[in-house]
Amino acid sequence: MNKISIQNILKSSSLNTDFSVSGWVRNKRVSKKIAFIMLNDGSCIQDLQIIVEDSNLLVQVFKQISIGSSINVIGKLIQSAGKEQSFELIAKEIKLIGYADPEKYPIQPKKHTLDFLRKNAHLRFRTKTFSSIFRIRHALSFAVHQFFNNNNFYYINTPIITSADAEGAGEMFKVTSLDINKLPLTDKGLVDYEKDFFSKQANLTVSGQLEAELAALGLSKVYTFGPTFRAENSNTSRHLAEFWMIEPEVAFSDIYDNIDLATSLLKYVAKYVLENYIDDITFLSDRKEKEEQSIKKEDRSSKNLLDTIQHIIDTDFTTITYTEAFKILKNSKKNKKNKFQFPVNEWGIDFQSEHERFLVEKEFNNPVVIIDYPKDIKAFYMRLNEDNKTVRAMDILFSGIGEIIGGSQREERLDFLKKRMQEMYIPEKELWWYIETRCYGTVPHSGFGLGFERLVQFITGMSNIRDVIPFPRYPSQIEF
Ligand code: ATP
Ligand code: MN
Repeated sequence: MNKISIQNILKSSSLNTDFSVSGWVRNKRVSKKIAFIMLNDGSCIQDLQIIVEDSNLLVQVFKQISIGSSINVIGKLIQSAGKEQSFELIAKEIKLIGYADPEKYPIQPKKHTLDFLRKNAHLRFRTKTFSSIFRIRHALSFAVHQFFNNNNFYYINTPIITSADAEGAGEMFKVTSLDINKLPLTDKGLVDYEKDFFSKQANLTVSGQLEAELAALGLSKVYTFGPTFRAENSNTSRHLAEFWMIEPEVAFSDIYDNIDLATSLLKYVAKYVLENYIDDITFLSDRKEKEEQSIKKEDRSSKNLLDTIQHIIDTDFTTITYTEAFKILKNSKKNKKNKFQFPVNEWGIDFQSEHERFLVEKEFNNPVVIIDYPKDIKAFYMRLNEDNKTVRAMDILFSGIGEIIGGSQREERLDFLKKRMQEMYIPEKELWWYIETRCYGTVPHSGFGLGFERLVQFITGMSNIRDVIPFPRYPSQIEF
């Protein structure tokens, strides 16, 4: 028997051929003479309509086949008479594989809230919305690898357990094999990490950048794509405790090359999903439009999801300096009327998501690249500008999200790097290997971090980041 996925059967032109299809029942309608079963196997957004006319089968469908049950159907593919679908299957045999008790099965063919589905994350893959999101997530991941491979980058795996706190941010999860109820202590009463697994304090990584830099200073063009962890207690719709990050690092490359690379990557992956997953995107676009009808007009997106993605592909991003962005924000009506939660008063403040979104959504109506940030709000490794006050940082801001990419040209000059580390109290002996790359054959180089879930969020139009990763981790949430 021709075993086939629903994605392939709908593409097939083998009419009047018998096929064997398996999936879950999304919906069914039964009458005395005929039954319709909407079957889905997750291979694509469409359901396959199964027509049941045989009287024995009808009894079986009526008795056994509930919504959520898994079944196997053998039947003949025919042209559909209905408008909704082009093909349907006339059932010859139906086998119940796994029964779902309709009294108990949580996923019913009605609207569930996203919060309800988050609590049922083990079953939400069966819904239209979440199967679409996770197909797109796959597509984006594939397109990212394809983009880098096409551009002769090498994929590097950087450690997940590290001893270095790259950002000096102190928001890391600790990794230990010590018995935390019986910690060995030093004379001073502190934990004796000498006795720990690595003979040193260890953490989960917050970024693969420092190691990616080492690789770039030999392989020239590399990228990482792996999980990162931040113990920041930020209960927002854009932060997770465990998220995936794409971090390219390129030798012989300055900040403008870096912006070009980031821009081409974003455009490439956006184009890839529009070209290959238009059914899912269209569904999610309609979903978002419906969802936004319940919020205030001024908070709604100015474009639908399809046009928002197309805009990324078509437009030139707007590049401005931090100082220019600061002036725009400071002089904005919104700031003067005190409508920002965090007022913009003094040069040197870090922009909040509300400021980033104001620039993108209200001021420019376009993606914005901000460069030359004050050195005091950025990491030690960013290259110092001539003005001694700003660094060659670049953040890319998108509508609905705010920061999607954070990157910079790195400080390749040994003396500048050491001075900055001193100023920021970063011990040289912890990063001796990083410093050595500046001693031997140092070169200008640049890179950035693209938060993968923020990218998936942007492309799927989902307003909460917890809905674009299969099993989200955030404060007090580690179920599944
Ligand atoms: P934010 O200011 O939004 O917290 P950040 O400045 O901490 O971001 P970076 O350290 O520059 O971010 O990390 C690079 C990218 O990783 C960000 O541009 C964003 O896309 C993503 N990112 C950062 N923190 C998180 C998080 N907690 N959850 C998901 N994605 C994140
Ligand atoms: Mn952060």
